[in-house]
Amino acid sequence: MLILVINCGSSSVKYKLIDMQEEKTLLSGLAERIGLPGSRIKHEKNDGRKLELKEDLPDHRAALEKIIACITDKEYGAVNDVSEITAVGHRTVHGGEKFNKAILVNREVLNELESLFELAPLHNPPNVLGIKTCQELMPHAPQVAVFDTAFHQTIPDYAFTYALPYEYYEKYGIRKYGFHGTSHKYVSGRAAAILGKPLTDLKIVVCHLGNGSSITAVKNGISVDTTMGFTPLAGLPMGTRTGDIDPAVVPFIMEKENLSIEEVSSLMNKKSGVLGVSGISSDFRDLEKAEAEGNKRAELALNMFIYSVKKWIGAFSAAMGGLDAVVFTGGIGENAIELREKVLTGMDFLGLEVDKEKNNVRGKETIISKDGCRAAALVVPTNEELMIAKETQALV
Ligand code: ADP
Repeated sequence: MLILVINCGSSSVKYKLIDMQEEKTLLSGLAERIGLPGSRIKHEKNDGRKLELKEDLPDHRAALEKIIACITDKEYGAVNDVSEITAVGHRTVHGGEKFNKAILVNREVLNELESLFELAPLHNPPNVLGIKTCQELMPHAPQVAVFDTAFHQTIPDYAFTYALPYEYYEKYGIRKYGFHGTSHKYVSGRAAAILGKPLTDLKIVVCHLGNGSSITAVKNGISVDTTMGFTPLAGLPMGTRTGDIDPAVVPFIMEKENLSIEEVSSLMNKKSGVLGVSGISSDFRDLEKAEAEGNKRAELALNMFIYSVKKWIGAFSAAMGGLDAVVFTGGIGENAIELREKVLTGMDFLGLEVDKEKNNVRGKETIISKDGCRAAALVVPTNEELMIAKETQALV
């Protein structure tokens, strides 16, 4: 069975074709700058052969047509005809309270997804556009929507409700939803397998640390709390996002700096986080380099991030009544060796002790805690596309 996984953003489409028999990626790629000057497609087959096409891609349909041409290309493709693709799995950011698992798309589901646009105005419209375009271009293939929010629908009401007048929850659906669910689900499952224990017996804190970062408490295989909220702005300080701040700061800055709603929203999403604090970069590699050269604000930004990760591990251990494992994933979680060591230092009160030698690893499934610790620490590279493909396969 061949599953095409599509992640359709406002100006980009990422894709991966996966052979489910061996869970093997046959090809992958990215169409970017759709609707902008300089649009292009970067495509790679699993034998390492790469293609870069500088193409005019005025819209998502043009991009997906070109992507299909790459997938069926004699030299760079993996199938002769698009009909060989069994189904398409779409990363879909927001499923609201309606969708607590992946779903086979029909007309009614599309209507429901459109009614959720308000909750994720940047993400859901391109996700739905991707689904509709694939329906047109691959009418034979069932389309499945896999939601970032679905895994978190098990969070109890006392953890997802905000202390606002209750009518805003009822009227507008304002509550914590949580994101990165596909990653948290995949990574917690892999961690249990690596530890050789049933997921249903474990209390796991998953730290998905990348450009966007979130931490989830996974108790007995289900999400019981997570750091992101109504939007992916909440929780940890991130590359360019504030994470949690006192909400009273927002009207204060708006007044002092004479900012509009759009301007303050852009400030909090795009100019804050470790970029805003350091004034250098949103990329943790740049910050580590600057810190090593003595830059104090880079050091401060990194320390803030590390402190926040530590705090959430402690908070979620309390929420779950214990801790069996902490798992690191995402670009930072998988690669930032020193940062992981700093997060895990001083955590022996939770039964966590890092093994410095084992922790000297990047992007590979590894137990990085000392043997015999009460709680394990692990690195598990995330694979959201494989998880989307598995959920798609299960539905078709
Ligand atoms: P996204 O949230 O966009 O999926 P990723 O999970 O790919 O992001 O994470 C990207 C981030 O990972 C980069 O911005 C960088 O900060 C961080 N990163 C990647 N490699 C390293 C490394 N070797 N050391 C520290 N940070 C790294």
